[in-house]
Amino acid sequence: LSVKFSIKKKIILVILLSSLTLCLVLSVAVSYYLGGKLTDQKIEQVLKIGIEQTHETHALFDKNRLFAKMLGTRTRVREFILDRKKVSEKELLGIFSEYAKENSDYLSIYLLDKNGIGLVSTDPRFIGQDYSFRDYFKKSIKGEPAVSSLVGKTSNEFGYYFSHPVKADDGEVIGVLVVKTNSVEINNSILSSEISKGVTSMMVDEFGVVLVSNKKERFLNSLGKISSENNDIIKQTNRFLGKEINSLGYDSVQRVVNNYRDIETVKLYDDRDGDEEIISVIRIGDLPFYLISEIELKHINYFVLSIVFPIVLIIVFGMAISGLLIYLLINNFIRPLQKFKVLSESIGKGDFSKKININTRDEFSDLSSAFNKMTDNLSDLYRDMDKKVQEKTAGIKSKTKEVEDQNNTILNILKDVENEKKKVEIIASDLEKFKLAVDNATDQVVITDSEGIVIYGNERMEKITGYTREEALGKKAGVLWRLPMADSYYKNLWETIKVQKKTFLSQIQNKRKNGEIYTADISISPILNDKNDILYFVAIEHDITERVEAEDQIRKVLNDMQEQAQNLIIAKSKNEAILTGIGDGVVTTNQDGVITFANQSTLDMLGFKIDEVLDKSVIDVLKISDENGDAVPVNRRPMIRAITTGEKATVPLGTTYYYQRKDGSRFPVGITVSPFLFNEKIIGTIEVFRDITVEKDVDKAKTEFVSLASHQLRTPLTSIGWYAEMLLSGDAGKLNAQQKEYLNEVDHGNRRMVKLVNSLLNISRIELGTFSVEPELTDLKVIVGDVVDELKTVISENKTNVEVVYGDGLEKIFIDPRLIRIVYQNLLTNALKYTPIGGNVKLEIKTDGDNILNSISDNGCGIPSSQQSSIFQKLFRADNAKFKDSEGTGLGLYIVKSIIEQSSGGKIWFESVENKGTTFFFTLPKKGMTPKKGSRPLN
Ligand code: ADP
Repeated sequence: LSVKFSIKKKIILVILLSSLTLCLVLSVAVSYYLGGKLTDQKIEQVLKIGIEQTHETHALFDKNRLFAKMLGTRTRVREFILDRKKVSEKELLGIFSEYAKENSDYLSIYLLDKNGIGLVSTDPRFIGQDYSFRDYFKKSIKGEPAVSSLVGKTSNEFGYYFSHPVKADDGEVIGVLVVKTNSVEINNSILSSEISKGVTSMMVDEFGVVLVSNKKERFLNSLGKISSENNDIIKQTNRFLGKEINSLGYDSVQRVVNNYRDIETVKLYDDRDGDEEIISVIRIGDLPFYLISEIELKHINYFVLSIVFPIVLIIVFGMAISGLLIYLLINNFIRPLQKFKVLSESIGKGDFSKKININTRDEFSDLSSAFNKMTDNLSDLYRDMDKKVQEKTAGIKSKTKEVEDQNNTILNILKDVENEKKKVEIIASDLEKFKLAVDNATDQVVITDSEGIVIYGNERMEKITGYTREEALGKKAGVLWRLPMADSYYKNLWETIKVQKKTFLSQIQNKRKNGEIYTADISISPILNDKNDILYFVAIEHDITERVEAEDQIRKVLNDMQEQAQNLIIAKSKNEAILTGIGDGVVTTNQDGVITFANQSTLDMLGFKIDEVLDKSVIDVLKISDENGDAVPVNRRPMIRAITTGEKATVPLGTTYYYQRKDGSRFPVGITVSPFLFNEKIIGTIEVFRDITVEKDVDKAKTEFVSLASHQLRTPLTSIGWYAEMLLSGDAGKLNAQQKEYLNEVDHGNRRMVKLVNSLLNISRIELGTFSVEPELTDLKVIVGDVVDELKTVISENKTNVEVVYGDGLEKIFIDPRLIRIVYQNLLTNALKYTPIGGNVKLEIKTDGDNILNSISDNGCGIPSSQQSSIFQKLFRADNAKFKDSEGTGLGLYIVKSIIEQSSGGKIWFESVENKGTTFFFTLPKKGMTPKKGSRPLN
């Protein structure tokens, strides 16, 4: 037993060691893998947000630049400088003040004459001051618009100065218009952005001087040492009122800013204080400003550690618990052994009274009852044996002697008689048996004398040859039925049986009495006496005609099959050659999902060898995951769907699936799987897939382009709006009716464009995943009330009956009110837009289990059934809608669906009959939306 205990100890040691090793390996692997992944992700995220932020900031600067341009080119301003009689100082100040009132960011608006002296200003302190030393003046007096960031001489405040030349009709510069804005708008935009969270962010000017930073103390310090040349410029233009500009020590970043030529992204490892940092520098459009974000790797490491540490802890804890459990179980399992030891010891001493009682319901229980039975049997056996031995010895002793003598005599006589009788009987029955056997044998048996004359033929002989025994007896064997054979055959036959006295075996063809030819196996053996002389020959023939024919038949069928198999192999290798040459991956499986074929492209794309794929389950080989890296559930895999539904299956619309290569890396795939049918049963599938990395990249580039283009489009659209408004208000002279009509068209078109650009921006934010979700406790009734109120004009123009119904027990839910407003706005606008004058629109909101169910129904033009499947696609519009309203964009429903599905996990669908009406339904889970950080909300 002591040996067994040491086995227990060994098992525990093995468990302990393997848990420890597994723990160590798992922890290191998890930390290494997650660490790398998370770090890359964080850096890419910061860069992405940074680029979007520069678009946003650029648009803000552009807005102000355009504002300065609009004022600088106004007729009133030019006329004021040229002829005070036409436009008085009071009137001009009135115009400036009006704009300054509208927008509190404009600290002051002022006009300088061509010597840089303040003429008119919303800030009276500027009048009569000389600003000719400023670089914005120096640039604008040469005819260029300019932007400067500096500390005001008079106000002592930091701000941004946007200047624009005022030109006479002949193009001569006669003054400079300046708009000074505070830094609030730009600071807010940068500081409230995602870029400022968790990383140090800054905006610097072309000299590397920090203008905004979430580290306040950096304001008006420079990144690195400023070159003496740049120092001179700063002094000359008195940018920072002689304030001492200290270096922050980022000399390498300063160099990047100084040598910056175009919009680009740089990653630097900062060597300033030994801490590794990643710094990105992005120029803000064409402006002399740069957005800089600095992430300390230390922070990322903390972030990574905060995710990895709990995982490692869970692994260690899990291992410890399972180790303990295994120890306790093993301990428990082998405890019964002790009881067996005690019992065996008492049996050994001859004591059968003890019993063992084990109730573990396993082999030990079985063993214990077997043991008990064995003890019982042993004790019975001992008792019986004793008794019998005693009785027998007594009886035997007395009788043995007399009986022995008598018996011996009688027995001997009887045995002799019996033996003789038996011998005779055996001989008689053997002969009978032989006759019966030979007569009824299924083979033909012929016996001849030593000269070959027939002396016996059995019944079968008559059947096979067609000759009776009488006909055959006395004749030379075989003369009746044999077909002539070559001489050598007979020579060989007689040589074998007569000279060598051995059995002759052969196959021959004979002729029956009726002329039929048959084939038989023949064996002829000589029967010899003691002196080795030949007594008889026994010939046994077995008719094998049928077998030979059957064999012929089978041979033919086999030949046919071989030919067909050959053809199949040729066809198969042709198919395989075609499939191998295809650039897409092709994989076939049987109905259980086991791979039966994979072409070269599959192996190249996945990095497998053919025997790592063939005969393996597709689920084990083609590892499939989604955008987030989570494994796609088995029943959602296209191949499994094709097997279960019997229909072609692809990757669901709007999602991307990834295949994993052997080395663990992933790539996005487009997959199509078709089932093979045989006798209407699915016997396998064929899958075609391809790497869509390039398509995905193009798609991403496209979305990023839309984002950039829309930001850039917003500014000119705003200026078109201003100018149209200016012209409509008679600023450039009174307009006649036709001019007014045209201009109204321009204004209307412009508003449409602004809407479109906003929608495009929303879509790019949805597709880049950069929009934020900020849920708060929201009353849907209030939102719906507001939206219906906004649409009042349209409702009354169209004379639509709008009915809003709220179900019982509708409570506030935790959602982003801004997002949900977009949903109601779009669905209600559509219902109104696609319903004729005097139509009915009904909006109903009620609770439905864990969801809130919304429905918006109308009795309008409906959606043609042939186009219903495309309705949620980007830019799609049904034919009847294009006809009814030419101004739609086809973007609304796409945005609505994305909001509902991406931010709340709800669902949206609709029912529609053409010319009868449409109902859109959508659900919002009562548990609300999960907050998500993003660079901007949707608008
Ligand atoms: P838009 O309305 O700007 O065309 P949407 O994305 O909002 O774009 O809608 C897409 C298309 O869906 C519409 O062009 C129209 O064909 C159809 N549609 C949406 N709502 C309705 C409705 N209530 N009745 C009929 N058709 C509708």
